[in-house]
Amino acid sequence: MAGSSRAPWAADPAASAGRLHPEPAAGGRTEFQRDRDRIVHCTAFRRLEYKTQVFINHEGDLYRTRLTHSIEVAQIARTIARAIGLDEDLTEAIALAHDLGHTPFGHSGQDALDAVMRPWGGFEHNLQSLRVVEQLEQRYAGFDGLNLSFETREGILKRCRPALAASLGDVAERFLRGGSPCLEAQIANLADEIAYSNHDVDDGLRAGLIEIDALAAVELFARHRKAVARQYPALAERRLVHETIRRMISELIEDLTAETLRRVRQAGVQSLAQVRASPPLAAFSAPIRRDLTQLKQFLTERLYRHPRVEVVMDAARGVVSDLFEYYRSQPQALPPEHRDRAERLGERAIADYIAGMTDRFAIRAHRHLTGRRVPELDAG
Ligand code: MG
Repeated sequence: MAGSSRAPWAADPAASAGRLHPEPAAGGRTEFQRDRDRIVHCTAFRRLEYKTQVFINHEGDLYRTRLTHSIEVAQIARTIARAIGLDEDLTEAIALAHDLGHTPFGHSGQDALDAVMRPWGGFEHNLQSLRVVEQLEQRYAGFDGLNLSFETREGILKRCRPALAASLGDVAERFLRGGSPCLEAQIANLADEIAYSNHDVDDGLRAGLIEIDALAAVELFARHRKAVARQYPALAERRLVHETIRRMISELIEDLTAETLRRVRQAGVQSLAQVRASPPLAAFSAPIRRDLTQLKQFLTERLYRHPRVEVVMDAARGVVSDLFEYYRSQPQALPPEHRDRAERLGERAIADYIAGMTDRFAIRAHRHLTGRRVPELDAG
């Protein structure tokens, strides 16, 4: 593992539980490096560039997309992983893969697909990320999916209903029997929270949907803003915002690192097996968790539910459900390979096809199939 020493609580690629389809070792790379590389090279990863994080992909060139979000998560997660002696490659692999199953149009796309798929088991983007790496990518001669290591797949599956867990096999076992995934997965998960709650502030301010003064009610933001303004009284607002967010991210990273190490030591954890047997050990301290919760509540109320965001997201939900109903009633409109899958798998294959679409592909397909434009989503 480059640049750090492995702690006894880290996952060890040489002791991995292995791949579904056994493969000879890759010269010069660990098994987790190889997983990370396969994720970077897969189709679903490239499509993240054109999928919405909060703002529709064409609304501006400066907003986060799912791709830049995933890279920010990986960067934050690796920083923490290195500081606490975890396997950086495994942490990075899980972070880069965590949103591979996301639909077009962010959470509204997932909600719409979940609603129309209700009679057939619903749709959950996290579970879909696992489907992408286990089944949907078709690149390798010997198997479907990317044939990733057990630890990476287990880390991608963040949550799972017990009713479903039984059908997913070993990667979902902890949802039936209790226990935790490796710390690399726990850190990737919390790094996701650090990344989006900070970059959404930045994007929301940039879009003019949030006022900087409204953020005075958010303690984490307010205290760093005050400190920056004290140190640099003449700073232009964009730089004040950037410097404030930079310091927020640093504080969250440092807190998560220190609190996780504290808990690991307090629990006397000396092995990965003990990590797995314990309740989650990666955590923020109580005051920082409160700060982060307050920030997330602010974003939910002021940004995610902002009327200007809701108008776009309502339209997006309509596009996704229209596409689903259209392909269901006219499966001949599906591309041949998806038509074949729909004959075998029914509605699930249609959900897989729609989930794989980028924002703009979905908008174009919708216009082509229905002959209607959706002005709220039109790039103009
Ligand atoms: Mg994410």
